[in-house]
Amino acid sequence: MTIWNLGSINADMIYAVPHLPGPGESLAATGMERFLGGKGANMSVAAARAGAQVAHIGAVGPDGRWAQDRLTEYGVDTRHIDGVEVPTGHAIIAVDAQGENNIILFPGSNHAISQDQLGQALSSAQQGGLLVMQNETNLQVEAAKMGRDLGLTVCYAAAPFQADAVQAVLPYLDFLILNEIEAEQLRQATGQSVTDLEVEHVIVTLGSKGARYYHRGTASDFPAYKVKAVDTTGAGDTFTGYVLAGMDRGMPMAQAVSQANRAAALMVTRHGTADVIPDLKEVREARFD
Ligand code: AMP
Repeated sequence: MTIWNLGSINADMIYAVPHLPGPGESLAATGMERFLGGKGANMSVAAARAGAQVAHIGAVGPDGRWAQDRLTEYGVDTRHIDGVEVPTGHAIIAVDAQGENNIILFPGSNHAISQDQLGQALSSAQQGGLLVMQNETNLQVEAAKMGRDLGLTVCYAAAPFQADAVQAVLPYLDFLILNEIEAEQLRQATGQSVTDLEVEHVIVTLGSKGARYYHRGTASDFPAYKVKAVDTTGAGDTFTGYVLAGMDRGMPMAQAVSQANRAAALMVTRHGTADVIPDLKEVREARFD
């Protein structure tokens, strides 16, 4: 089946700087690199690398065709990515010599997805398919409602965390995934812990401790694989993409989560995001201590 991903597409522009600029300061960068990023794009790439058929629903501006092409190269169906007259979503990331960073995030085209476009894309969705969203686009609630009406399994990665955004989609969700910090933020904002939610599948990722899966009141722990972590960016998105691909293939959840732990463990040993997400063969062949 197809995994439908209503997701962000960003240009991650990374500038190497001698120190992080202060107020009013102009600073020359010593290097610049541009990468494909955005939680949506990362999840599409991860699920595609895990062998799933993925259709991305999103938008890029005139400056973002390369990002769409990159997704196509990674095996993602990009026919439902619209070209809009708004700059493509991007992150301007300054990184100093110590690895400290600061980030300016501009949502741009990720907030210019049209209802028509969403409806048209999902009109070819088949009952039993998966729909995933994150909190970096517009139309999350509309998509969740549509997904529910169409009989899709509706999945939500609650990142970047915003309590009202999660609460708005909660009634339509079959699967919620969030990290430990986001789960705590949800508890503080709503008074509900993840065990109180009426969502069939909930996964809380726990960084180097792995992940916990909640299903109808039962919690199961899946410890992380031991690796030397060098960069945890994109680990959560890789994990989610792999879990979705496993679910889509009809894997038992325990197997899907274990495989996602393997993929995310490999991911933290690498610098970079979408471009370095491991494929299924690498994940299967990886040896851990
Ligand atoms: P997080 O978003 O930090 O909770 O991480 C998502 C997933 O990445 C976790 O559930 C693990 O599978 C994996 N992961 C993150 N950090 C590490 C680490 N230091 N070692 C191994 N796996 C990790």
